[in-house]
Amino acid sequence: MTTRADCARLDAADPLAHLRAEFTLPEDVVYLDGNSLGALPRAVPGRVADLVERQWGRGLVASWNDEGWWDAPRTLGARVAPLVGAAAEEVVVGDGTSANLFKVLVAALRLAGDRRVVVGEAGNFPTDLYVTQGAAELMGATERRVDPDGPGLAAALAAGDVAVVLLSHVDYRTGALRDMAGITRLAHAHGALMVWDLCHSVGALPVRLSACEADFAVGCTYKYLNGGPGAPAFTYAAARHHDAARQPITGWHGHADPFAFTADYRPAAGASRFLSGSQPLVAHAALGAALDVWEGVDLDLVRAKSLAMTGLFLELTAPAGLASATPRAPERRGSQVSLLHPDGYAMVRALGERGVVGDFRAPDVLRFGFTPLYLRYVDVFDAAAALVEVVRSGEWREPRFAARRTVT
Ligand SMILES: *Cc1c(COP(=O)(O)O)cnc(C)c1O
Repeated sequence: MTTRADCARLDAADPLAHLRAEFTLPEDVVYLDGNSLGALPRAVPGRVADLVERQWGRGLVASWNDEGWWDAPRTLGARVAPLVGAAAEEVVVGDGTSANLFKVLVAALRLAGDRRVVVGEAGNFPTDLYVTQGAAELMGATERRVDPDGPGLAAALAAGDVAVVLLSHVDYRTGALRDMAGITRLAHAHGALMVWDLCHSVGALPVRLSACEADFAVGCTYKYLNGGPGAPAFTYAAARHHDAARQPITGWHGHADPFAFTADYRPAAGASRFLSGSQPLVAHAALGAALDVWEGVDLDLVRAKSLAMTGLFLELTAPAGLASATPRAPERRGSQVSLLHPDGYAMVRALGERGVVGDFRAPDVLRFGFTPLYLRYVDVFDAAAALVEVVRSGEWREPRFAARRTVT
């Protein structure tokens, strides 16, 4: 069994340890929910204040030019690009994941000729399911849902009528990591386009969209990228689709010549055509500061530390006797551990009272996210010890832990 002293030694040798100082974290909290809302980067408040007080307050409307506001979706996109293995001009930042998903699904269906089937996953995050329903309804398409970790995906593709496949790279409930290269190849072999949702993989592990020849991808920036609550999302469109892709929300920020103020829409070149309207610049400022932390960070080191931490947490929580939904094989694991218990909500609340923050996903998942930029191995040790204690002592049975709050 790994001891706390072993963990302290791992921290002393950790090549990412210095990055914790880039974050503002409460002293008495072990934060294992960075896969829901990333922690606050220390530079964010100053950067937001600068945007509000100087750029807006003094610069006023000139800041659209002087401070690069107009190009922010592209300059931020270019900074997200290396985190997802894409070229700078293939990524734009703007709107939310749900909206961007709608845009790329419609664009993919329009590229797919006569094919009118969208294959998704039965257990995907609800917004992906709902948006797929909305896009399919608009486009006269049908939806098929499969278990992407079983044989269902290959069977669905073999029908030969699939226009587009949408999968999450990492499953939000179980933490299972999908084989992006293999699945994209399979979709293409059957004439389908491949859309990836990167919400639970960007910033958690190296993502290689270009190398895998993915067609489109979306992802949020408020989880592992620490962009702040409701931070704008990103859209990736492979360069080979830039000329032909047509998304449905044809606003002026995606126009080829927006300041000509012409009467008809003409799409911009590159991924810019996936933009629609004006963006939240205050939120952009926060995201810009959050992305600074990623400069020079080796994603292979992030991945190695993430796997070490999830492996350690699985080892140390074994005495709690909870089943795990997270794959044991490291190459199939994202950056979270999901333990199962019907009273998991009360257990997570009881843990919260001990300063360990995880979350709960209905019906029975206790979810713990591991963020290598700001977590220490001793934190993993302490969190695991607290969980074992909560389960063994039965303290979670206290009635006050059972009442569900709005956000679980
Ligand atoms: C977090 C998450 C989203 C979030 O969508 P929003 O539009 O930002 O609310 C979407 N899809 C998946 C798979 C997620 O994990």
